[in-house]
Amino acid sequence: MNEYQAPAELLKDKVILVTGAGDGIGAEAARCYAAHGATCILLGRTVAKLEKVYDEIVAAGNAEPAIVPLDLKGATPSHYQQMGQTIADQFGRLDGVLHNASVLGHLSAFKDIGEEEWREVMQINLNGTVFMTQALIPVLEKAPNASVVFTTSSVGRKGRAFWGTYAVSKFATEGVMQTLADEYRHKSLRFNCINPGGTRTSMRAQAFPAENPETLKTPADIMPTYLYLMGDDSIEVTGQSLDCQPK
Ligand code: NDP
Repeated sequence: MNEYQAPAELLKDKVILVTGAGDGIGAEAARCYAAHGATCILLGRTVAKLEKVYDEIVAAGNAEPAIVPLDLKGATPSHYQQMGQTIADQFGRLDGVLHNASVLGHLSAFKDIGEEEWREVMQINLNGTVFMTQALIPVLEKAPNASVVFTTSSVGRKGRAFWGTYAVSKFATEGVMQTLADEYRHKSLRFNCINPGGTRTSMRAQAFPAENPETLKTPADIMPTYLYLMGDDSIEVTGQSLDCQPK
């Protein structure tokens, strides 16, 4: 899918929420969506990083984004309900969500995973995604063809030793996506997963500290798949888990 060439105005007038928009793949996706015409809602936990992405989008002459400072670790369903209401009041609809924010946690033997670590990774990677999606469905349904994109990983499809908590959170993300895609299969709302593959970010460096980052694709390299799933060229696609990079 990485050979997809997006039309310049693919996302013109669309309102798109990106979580984890301050760094790595999420920051690049927000800049890229804005460059293709979208008004982006930048959600993340570090305001200074979100402001930097905001400034870059405005400096490039693209639509002014909105910033939502939110730490998914402490967020509750009522935070997401409020956010959905604010988006409805301000924009009237939501055309897309990129669920991108995640943490890796610590890689360790399954028997050694601590309760606190397990709960924290699940809270950010899974519960945040679930309760945010629930709260946003009404405002997504106000858009003609909304797209919800979840972020998976190769370890969310095949388990790998020592990746326990993160891997299980990504398996669950695939399950959430498949369940929603089936429930909404006759409606205009679509749900898919994206697997970026090894990409040059701080999360990747945390997972593979000895790796030379120069050997990896950059977030900008993998944007064609992110554009494809968010824009109307994928209008018939739901329930799929797409790879940005060939295996
Ligand atoms: P980064 O660590 O570079 O960026 C993650 C983003 O998520 C950051 O902006 C971070 O905010 C945000 N975030 C983390 N925790 C929270 C929280 N509690 N509340 C709000 N925001 C939070 O990761 P990548 O860009 O590499 O990863 C993006 C997605 O791609 C993730 O879902 C990851 O699992 C997936 N992925 C990445 C791969 C890779 O090789 N890079 C491979 C496979 C999947 P802050 O900057 O403030 O910390």
